[in-house]
Amino acid sequence: MNHETLEKIEQLIPLIVNWEEQWEKFILQYGIPLSDELKEDAAYIGVTHVDQVRLLQVPSIPMPTDPMIINIFLTIENYHLDAHASCLRYGIFIRADCSNIRFRITHELTHTAQCEQWGGPEPFCREYLRQLFTLGYEEMPFEQEANTFAHFTCIRRGETLPKPDELVNSVGNTMRTLRQ
Ligand SMILES: [Zn+2]
Repeated sequence: MNHETLEKIEQLIPLIVNWEEQWEKFILQYGIPLSDELKEDAAYIGVTHVDQVRLLQVPSIPMPTDPMIINIFLTIENYHLDAHASCLRYGIFIRADCSNIRFRITHELTHTAQCEQWGGPEPFCREYLRQLFTLGYEEMPFEQEANTFAHFTCIRRGETLPKPDELVNSVGNTMRTLRQ
């Protein structure tokens, strides 16, 4: 990783972590606990503090508004956040109209487990950005692992999997629109 990328990451971390912590607090206050079945899925995925997780349905997933965050993310080709859902450690946003709910939630629960395993939001964010900037969204291990766990959890439950085009994400489109 070159010096410029490292510098970019270090500039972004406090902004993103601060933004995430605010929304995590909000979800922990207003969200609902996981159902018993989802608690079992979370444990299967490797989440340690399953009882701390809260889910909150929203009409659309909040995105960072800081111009510095937006401008840097605009430079990444094919980048999209998980616009159907997003994970702020123990707080998970789910878009009210999204389909394949178990797939989405278990994808995000994998990020919760990763965040625990990497020692909390700051080191997790650093590693997430390192993977994103060096490998890209499609190839980065954190996202691949989240899709793999979501996939296996759905198969285990006998649920249908989303079609590949259903996983294409609307924030990617928003980002592309902004770039044009
Ligand atoms: Zn993800």
